[in-house]
Amino acid sequence: MKILMMSVRDDEEAAIKSWSERNNIKVDTVDWELHPDRVSELGVYDGIVIQQRSKVEGEVYPALKAAGIKQITTRTAGFDVIDLEAARENGLTVTNVPAYSPRSVAELALAHTMRLIRKLEIFDERAAKQDFRWAGLQAAEIHSLTVGIIGAGRIGGTTAKIFDALGAKVVAHDLVEREELKSFVTYMSKEEVLQKADVICLHVDLNPSTINLIGRDELALMKPTAYLVNECRGPVVDTDALIEALEQKKIAGAALDTLTGEENFFNFNLQNKELPSQQLIRLREMENVILTPHVGFFTNIAVQNMVDISLDDVVAILNGEKSEHQVS
Ligand code: NAD
Repeated sequence: MKILMMSVRDDEEAAIKSWSERNNIKVDTVDWELHPDRVSELGVYDGIVIQQRSKVEGEVYPALKAAGIKQITTRTAGFDVIDLEAARENGLTVTNVPAYSPRSVAELALAHTMRLIRKLEIFDERAAKQDFRWAGLQAAEIHSLTVGIIGAGRIGGTTAKIFDALGAKVVAHDLVEREELKSFVTYMSKEEVLQKADVICLHVDLNPSTINLIGRDELALMKPTAYLVNECRGPVVDTDALIEALEQKKIAGAALDTLTGEENFFNFNLQNKELPSQQLIRLREMENVILTPHVGFFTNIAVQNMVDISLDDVVAILNGEKSEHQVS
């Protein structure tokens, strides 16, 4: 058996080598994506794994079938780049990695929250200017606060557990209430969570009901001392409304691992270049805003899991077994 893994980053190579050695299966790696001009190179492989932002075009599916390929595995949670109908028509089983490590994102929510409540961003900015005063920057201890989770699914539920373990009161809003969280999470309406919590962590998935889930009206419900932490998807927050709320001191600060339009700036080196977003420019100017370039997933465990789970699925499908991650 020989597998090709595409769009491989340097930081994934060690995990791929480790899986290959443990399973005694050859895995070749390339940095290019799956597009029509590459299909001729796939004939020597039994299985393929992708990870890409751009769509797999229609002509790729019959070409894969003709090359004897039986599956398309993406090592990401999202699989919208794959046309499931075209895959089905060409006998290609599609799998994804729905949960590579909820802890990876939940721990970033913790890090962002601690950084906000200890006002570390502000101390760092002052220290960079040789200003080492601390008056006016008293912190709150986490176990004295209420943390609100909006979207208490896999990641949100994990974030809830972490904050509960630290002694914070945890309240949550979700369309689905999970029995397993109810011993330490108090469910309530979105409005109540916004009113009661000192830190609001957003962990919903992006769907029509979550676009602009946090807008002007929702921000107006938050305490002026409260913080917003967005680790899910940019469009869940109305960025202009957030900037306005921060400027008018309606909330105390925000940490954003994701921002609408991020495909134009996150994961690019834009040093000495003009930034392509006025919203990004404005947010960067604020000392109570933390920005990270969509790195919630980027941990040792998550990267290893994305590699291991996707390759295990390829083997299962090639052996004629079912994978629990089949999306087609
Ligand atoms: P999940 O499906 O387990 O949880 C999402 C939760 O949101 C569900 O419980 C769902 O019921 C709830 N929800 C959906 N619409 C809602 C609404 N309108 N109001 C209230 N609750 C609503 O997903 P997950 O695995 O926990 O991942 C959540 C999201 O995190 C992903 O969809 C992705 O956008 C984001 N994510 C970010 C990173 C990162 O690097 N920052 C990494 C992985 C995932």
